[in-house]
Amino acid sequence: MTKDNTDSETESADDATADDSTAARDRSATSTNLDFDSMFEESSDESQGLFDDLLSSEPIFENKEVLRPSYTPHELPHRNDQINQMATILVSALRGDTPSNILIYGKTGTGKTASAKFVSQELESTSQKYDVPCEVEYINCEVTDTQYRVLAQLANKFIEKNEARIESKIETLNEVRERLQSTESDELIDAAEPTAPNADDADDEEIRSLAEEYDSVEAVDAEIESLTADLDEIDPVPMTGWPTDRVYSTFFDAVDYHERVVVIMLDEIDKLVEKSGDDTLYNLSRMNSELTNSRISIMGISNDLKFTDFLDPRVKSSLGEEEIVFPPYDATQLRDILQHRADVAFKSEALTSDVIPLCAAFAAQEHGDARRALDLLRTAGELAERSQADLIEETHVRQAQDKIELDRVVEVVRTLPTQSKIVLFSIILLEKNGVHNINTGEVFNIYKRLCEEIDADVLTQRRVTDLISELDMLGIVNAVVVSKGRYGRTKEMNLSVPIDETEAVLLSDSRLGDIDNVQPFVQARFDND
Ligand code: ADP
Ligand code: MG
Repeated sequence: MTKDNTDSETESADDATADDSTAARDRSATSTNLDFDSMFEESSDESQGLFDDLLSSEPIFENKEVLRPSYTPHELPHRNDQINQMATILVSALRGDTPSNILIYGKTGTGKTASAKFVSQELESTSQKYDVPCEVEYINCEVTDTQYRVLAQLANKFIEKNEARIESKIETLNEVRERLQSTESDELIDAAEPTAPNADDADDEEIRSLAEEYDSVEAVDAEIESLTADLDEIDPVPMTGWPTDRVYSTFFDAVDYHERVVVIMLDEIDKLVEKSGDDTLYNLSRMNSELTNSRISIMGISNDLKFTDFLDPRVKSSLGEEEIVFPPYDATQLRDILQHRADVAFKSEALTSDVIPLCAAFAAQEHGDARRALDLLRTAGELAERSQADLIEETHVRQAQDKIELDRVVEVVRTLPTQSKIVLFSIILLEKNGVHNINTGEVFNIYKRLCEEIDADVLTQRRVTDLISELDMLGIVNAVVVSKGRYGRTKEMNLSVPIDETEAVLLSDSRLGDIDNVQPFVQARFDND
């Protein structure tokens, strides 16, 4: 089946080329005789073959999209327990009750977001099926990270839904009005011919019963008028500028506009609390006592297992009514996850049998991160494709592992503050001159001179020691504390990232890049020994 797809794509691509060249010819026939017209014609007929070689090698991928982070899988192996727990709690919403608030914990890549989105889709579609008013709103707090933005985004989403609902209601009422009018005139001329049957029987039924309920055109008009007034009154929240109180009450009114249960999913909730405190959560968690028509339930998702330590105790107990933990995947589970995706992502026989186990093993070391496992598999595929190999093999996975690791290091180093960059550069200079087990004093000597050279503030040795600890935590250096007997303790460190690439990233910083000749700074180490 998939093979047919590829064929038809190739065909349509051919068609497009044919069309283009006809168009080019047409143009040259009708338009003025500019030179580039004929050039254009020639080049579209006879390419230099830039893409031909690349196209002719059998592609490894069938569908690369399914390996990208943006893809939401329909199946989530090894997350049944967690998904069922969520569903068991949220099913109350479908019965018109308020579900307990839920807090979900787990390290990155353990499937929290994917599972939450899956459950929310199921919840919404079931609520439509049984026609119970239940809505889910998902917010990623890493992007939407202040109280204002969270409330504004929620308010505007509910406003949008309310508007759509009002508009469709007005539409229905207009039909009811027509029906009432026609029955009135029917009665007058005494010809009980029913109006033409409507597209949908259910709709028709609804209109008929509404027509009985309203009973006069005037009553319908009054209702339409009041709904139109509601529409006019609705004011979406601007991205900035309102006092928070006003944003909150707009959100509150929008939620309470009609009866429903609302589930608010706050993904990366720890980022919100870290950046803006727990006011948002406090306000949301006490809303139910004031809402009259609707009820809300909060589902918070956190990568940080200890983030509730920073919460107001009231918020903590309200938010954590139910807790669900997403444990890291082990290598076997990661294999299953990868296998499911690989079946869709790659042509059959495109992988050697050791590729998936190796990706799984690498990612299992990386705290069981499924995102990392998928990245590895995709990158390995891309590297194989790029080298025009027919198969993805173990070496491609190892190259992919190095590439991803290097990309991470480059990104971390690139975004370090200048002072940390100078400290790191000092360590690199020492290593390049053959110094191992570098101690803090040695780093500090070189650091000082580098700072003077580029006119940066010189921090105390204590602060520099702190910056070294940070580099250690980021995995850029490996530092151990060693005792020097009665001379106290010092740190000894080695670089734990590739030296040339790291140096290149540092030198791409305009301030560090200005230092021409670094040898004198390294000499300083020996001067001070
Ligand atoms: P988290 O939110 O916990 O950081 P995600 O839900 O974003 O993790 O998952 C990371 C990646 O791994 C996503 O691409 C997701 O589709 C995939 N993934 C995670 N768990 C599973 C699973 N059980 N089955 C299939 N894919 C999964
Ligand atoms: Mg997530």
